[in-house]
Amino acid sequence: MSISQFVKDVKSGKIDIEKNTKSILDEAKKINKDYNYFNTICEKEAFAKAEEIKKKSTGKLAGLPMSIKDNICVKGIDSTAGSKILEGYKPLFNATVIEKLEKEGAIIIGKTSQDEFGFGGFSINIGLDKKIPKNPLDKDRVTGGSSGGSAGYTAITKYHHVSIAESTGGSIVNPASFCGVIGLCPTYGLLSRYGLIDYANSLDKIGIMAKDIEDIEIVLNIIKGHDEKDSTSLNMELKDKSIKKIGIIKESLNVDEDIKKIMLDSVEKLGTPYEEISLPIVSEYGIAAYYLIAMSEASTNLAKFSGLRYGYEEKLEGDFNEYFSKVRNNAFGKEAKRRIILGTFARMAGFRDQYYLKAMKARTLMINEYKKAFKKYDILVSPTMPIIAPKFSEVKNLTPLQNYMMDILTVGPNLAGLPHITINAGFKDKMPVGIMFIGDHLSENKLIEICKNKIFKK
Ligand code: GLN
Repeated sequence: MSISQFVKDVKSGKIDIEKNTKSILDEAKKINKDYNYFNTICEKEAFAKAEEIKKKSTGKLAGLPMSIKDNICVKGIDSTAGSKILEGYKPLFNATVIEKLEKEGAIIIGKTSQDEFGFGGFSINIGLDKKIPKNPLDKDRVTGGSSGGSAGYTAITKYHHVSIAESTGGSIVNPASFCGVIGLCPTYGLLSRYGLIDYANSLDKIGIMAKDIEDIEIVLNIIKGHDEKDSTSLNMELKDKSIKKIGIIKESLNVDEDIKKIMLDSVEKLGTPYEEISLPIVSEYGIAAYYLIAMSEASTNLAKFSGLRYGYEEKLEGDFNEYFSKVRNNAFGKEAKRRIILGTFARMAGFRDQYYLKAMKARTLMINEYKKAFKKYDILVSPTMPIIAPKFSEVKNLTPLQNYMMDILTVGPNLAGLPHITINAGFKDKMPVGIMFIGDHLSENKLIEICKNKIFKK
């Protein structure tokens, strides 16, 4: 059922929105016991909204159940970004995207689990005292990350559902592909970041996950657009949806053979002319530039968490430095600490030119490389991830560098602020394999169009 049909049924009373919401929440609680997709399920608020909609059902999303990644602020609901240091923090305001969704009648049912502050690709860097989310198709495997809860729940629920997630370097498409749902990461600035708990400001994008491409399209049109509260948000129109030629990123073919075959077969079946294109700079320098820039920005963003303004507190004793150190030592996870140290180092006088500024230059070269490719191709394509969702036992012993290398295919479009989407293209060992389409800035309509192709219909 499409959102429009669902909303029509809610408005006509064919769907009793209060009963429907109750069944959804019951299912969500049950699923959460086994799979750990939610940090918070906001039952009381969801019922209040359902009651309001039953009385007066207005809006394009009237009654639509939605979940929100835990790093997006929802007024009065715990918003922790998956970190102990924000435990108990209830924002006094809504993020702009939440404001827009609620105005259209969406019902927020909960905040989804994630890697702490988005630091990770498997949702195993859990900062809170919670359990790790498990893949909906195989409980021994990861959901992917960092938006693991959003992807897992969207895949498993039997109800209509749309989740709002966030990506800095791949956190939407990675878990969406591991769990077999569609994930759209829009052009940088298309959606307001106001109310997003930032990881790296020049990279962060709020995006959407759903099972149906039509749902992504409807929700995108509601939440996109300029916002005075975010000076980096764009005031520009989207480009048309025509697709004449596709470029297969040559370096991305260096993945698992089965994954490569699934991707190439899908491109063949699409019926659009295609050829291979090489992106040597993106492929060679993407990971290094991404992690330097992302960690540098993260290390300054995390400086505001001192146990004084919000969230976690310790007994007030000692001077400021002692208190601050104690709080940060006890409430930041291992990966957050690693990134603060590495990011601070990369920005330090004496090293800045060698690392941070060099990474910024590499980023510009990468943007130019993509821009040149988009003169010839409307869409670029690659597998979304180089592997299928790994088992917990397989990721347990990976070094930090091996972890970071998993993002090899997703950091490029994120560094260049390009919109990208993943959709399921097939299965390997019964696990979903995602294909990723990348468009030029503001080409979301092309990405949506390509995912509407009948080869992706279930
Ligand atoms: N895995 C990447 C990282 O750890 C991307 C995460 C994200 O997009 N938030 O930085």
